[in-house]
Order: sequence, then structure tokens, then C-alpha cells
Amino acid sequence: MWVYVIWGILLIVIIAMLVRMRTLFSVYVCPRCGSEFTLKPIQEFFFPQIMYRKIARCPKCRKIVRAGIMRNQANIDKLDQTEKNHSKNGRGKKKTKNFK
Ligand SMILES: [Zn+2]
Repeated sequence: MWVYVIWGILLIVIIAMLVRMRTLFSVYVCPRCGSEFTLKPIQEFFFPQIMYRKIARCPKCRKIVRAGIMRNQANIDKLDQTEKNHSKNGRGKKKTKNFK
């Protein structure tokens, strides 16, 4: 029986990771006031997404809106940077100079 418990936990962990990735890489834009905001993972999980719109609560006008979804380019760049650093770890250098 405990096998099911382990699978259940594993599934929850995987879903949590996916939701976390989404929160890291998505920025939402309120159609009412135009402000950009991010969601906490728990909010990301509970608010539904319809087509390319996310039902979410705008922190500025405090209304439930159909927010537009944008890529959080800053975080994506950050991840790219860490991946590049990892692949170059053989050299053991921290700063990159003249790297193309
Ligand atoms: Zn708003």
C-alpha cells in the first residue's frame, strides 16, 4: 500500500515543480490597469488558465481579471546564464571574459 503513497508524493512534487517553473517564467498583465504582476505558486495552481488568459487577482486594482501572459525574460535570462556557467564548470572560472 505504501507504494501508492510514494507515487502520490512524487506526483505532487512534480506538479509543484512545474507550477514553480511557470511562476518563475510568467508575468501577468492586468487588462484594467496595465500593471504587471507575478503569482505565488499556490495562486498559480488554483487560478485557471483559459486559452492565453489567466484568471488572476490583480494586486493593484484588487479585481479578478483575465490577465495576459508574458514571458518573464529576466528570469529566463538568469536561468540561461546559470546553465552556461554549469556547462563551463570544467574551467573553474567564475567570471566570463570575451565569451561569445
Ligand atoms: Zn489591475
